[in-house]
Amino acid sequence: MNSEFGLIARYFTRPAPPGFLGVGDDCALLPVAAGHHLATSTDLLIEGRHFFADVDPAALGHKSLAVNLSDLAAMGAQPLACLLSLSIPKIDDNWLQRFADGFHALAQASACPLVGGDTVKSLSGIVISVTVMGQVKPQLALRRSAARVGDDIWITGTLGAADIALRLLQNRLPVNPSLLAATRHALERPLPPWHFAQQLPGIAHAALDISDGLMQDLGHILKASDCGAELVYNALPVAAALHGLDDELVQDAVLSGGDVYQLCFTAPTDVRASIEALAQGASIQVTRVGSIVAQPGLRIKGPGSTFIVTKQAGFDHFS
Ligand code: ADP
Ligand code: MG
Repeated sequence: MNSEFGLIARYFTRPAPPGFLGVGDDCALLPVAAGHHLATSTDLLIEGRHFFADVDPAALGHKSLAVNLSDLAAMGAQPLACLLSLSIPKIDDNWLQRFADGFHALAQASACPLVGGDTVKSLSGIVISVTVMGQVKPQLALRRSAARVGDDIWITGTLGAADIALRLLQNRLPVNPSLLAATRHALERPLPPWHFAQQLPGIAHAALDISDGLMQDLGHILKASDCGAELVYNALPVAAALHGLDDELVQDAVLSGGDVYQLCFTAPTDVRASIEALAQGASIQVTRVGSIVAQPGLRIKGPGSTFIVTKQAGFDHFS
């Protein structure tokens, strides 16, 4: 079993769904429904940059797929299948088993089966590349350029917890085991709303997944749609674990913290009830946090009537 092919057979080969050709041939084959286009996206995770070497491998397997599923969700696409390319320094069966378990559990939950990939020996740390494929009606896909003046701005899930966990793990905050316990799950096991998101085409306008911080990511929609936004700070869904922390820290985590993998989307005001009903059906939290306006820029209405002056913060690999 200690070969590349044994490893693929053991950890990464699962029966493909009916109508699919999965792992084992030169290409996988996927059916795409009539009237739909293929939606595809890829993300790279590098040891030391995107994850700690000692992270739970099952959580890492989960997160490798989750960060890609959030891109499909942000387009309103239905997951079809995924590819996994893995570069590892050695065959560690315990690590591989746990990584594969975490990966396949989410693949099964999201109906996004693993149908192929590549496996190579790395000279240094672990590198993981996942590609997802989904399908969406192209005219209804949730493009960043589709926001309209007057739209509501919505957020799924809550904000801030992953950022606080990251700060704790990087010793940028004083040691606080109970706070770490309450926030770590958000960082290590993000759960994008893929099921809810598939139902947004035809209802919502623009969407994206929050990976680099709300302010920076919403900025992408505003730029692509040539409009501005007004948010109400007190309406933002702050993660419960952050209650009682220093106000400035919370504000920074909520507005600029990354690794959220929830959606920010815009939709006309007359579909509020439909969105609430869809969210309830999918058992996810949705919060209306502001609106799209004609005046360019992002203004955040703070407590009282002041507008928070936003510095353009968030994560950028090259800054
Ligand atoms: P190739 O020679 O075309 O690169 P490989 O020998 O690398 O093919 O892979 C054999 C089969 O195993 C292919 O179907 C490939 O998609 C699949 N595969 C390889 N690595 C992985 C992986 N990490 N996860 C899933 N499938 C994999
Ligand atoms: Mg290969």
